[in-house]
Amino acid sequence: MAETTPNHTQSVSGWAARNSSGEVTPFVFKRRENGADDVTIKVLYCGMCHTDLHYIRNDWGITMYPVVPGHEITGIITKVGDNVSNFKVGDRVGVGCLAASCLKCDLCKNSEENYCEQLQFTYNGIFWDGSITYGGYSKMLVADKRYVVHVPESLPLDKAAPLLCAGITVFGPMKQHNMLQAGKKLGVVGLGGLGHIAIKFAKAFGLHVTVISTSPSKEKEAKERLGADNFVISTDPKQMQANVRSLDYIIDTVSAVHSLGPILELLKIKGTLAIVGAPDKPMELPSFPLIFGKRTVSGSIIGSIKETQEMLDLCGKYNITCEIELVTPDYINKALDRLAKNDVRYRFVLDVASESKL
Ligand code: NAP
Ligand code: ZN
Repeated sequence: MAETTPNHTQSVSGWAARNSSGEVTPFVFKRRENGADDVTIKVLYCGMCHTDLHYIRNDWGITMYPVVPGHEITGIITKVGDNVSNFKVGDRVGVGCLAASCLKCDLCKNSEENYCEQLQFTYNGIFWDGSITYGGYSKMLVADKRYVVHVPESLPLDKAAPLLCAGITVFGPMKQHNMLQAGKKLGVVGLGGLGHIAIKFAKAFGLHVTVISTSPSKEKEAKERLGADNFVISTDPKQMQANVRSLDYIIDTVSAVHSLGPILELLKIKGTLAIVGAPDKPMELPSFPLIFGKRTVSGSIIGSIKETQEMLDLCGKYNITCEIELVTPDYINKALDRLAKNDVRYRFVLDVASESKL
């Protein structure tokens, strides 16, 4: 669609998946001209979220090919429209998952636009002009000023990129459920991109953190590098039993189907399980751990732009950055394979501006 939209005149080099085989190849496409409310961004880095993999492989059955993934974008502003006053050329900025919302509904007016019914994403979305959105696995982005945030000077743009999705996705429920209180006990299920940032936030605020993982090989690092206090192997019933009723909150970041019963048992009475992982099939939710523990299960999607800016400013203040493996675009397919095999510590970040042979 973008090719036929009249003001989509700018050619951009990027990388796209053409079908569900999962392979990503070079793709030249068009973006809109910079409108009055737009900023143009030279993309420098883009995190590789597990959501990218879900879309590339059409796990959720909603992918519109070709798809240019990427919603953990950092870069530098190269152009601003006439109506833009909060950004200028040269600013260090970030773009996350949001590309558009209605701007009129109560949710949009109340800075909860991530729940707007007309929400459109940075890729695989349909923008106001009818064009399909293409994400940050590309050299340049045009974004509406309302969906762009400032990256604090103290944060390196590569290690900050995953904050735009993974960071805000775990910060959202932490804030919503008032989790960030020193001394409280947090469980983090799944130690991947989202999970590792949840640990970092929790430790910055003095929480006690238990990682609940399927990967024994991650224990040493989780404790030594990330500061986790406790590590529980979820497939070991004895270890799970030893931690029953021990946690105030749990954030579940797992990308695959798993049973929620044993995880709920780890919560204290009246504890909250916040789900952010997005497996493609329904998960088992037994009633007994819920009713006998008066527990709550909740879910959330990323966060608003206001919360994203708040989170980034907090990261600047507490020097919270992501643990990344920086890769060049010719490594995209290998990185996606490794992400699928749970072989990443803890986020691949694409060095978009680097020269690539791909
Ligand atoms: P990731 O880096 O691949 O991490 C997911 C972790 O889940 C893995 O590191 C692994 O941790 C665990 N895991 C994987 N397969 C598992 C299995 N079969 N059983 C149990 N545990 C398993 O992925 P991510 O980028 O953090 O994203 C995680 C999920 O969140 C994805 O589904 C993504 O689409 C979703 N997401 C949601 C939002 C939102 O707004 N709600 C935003 C971003 C992403 P261990 O090795 O420790 O077990
Ligand atoms: Zn994401």
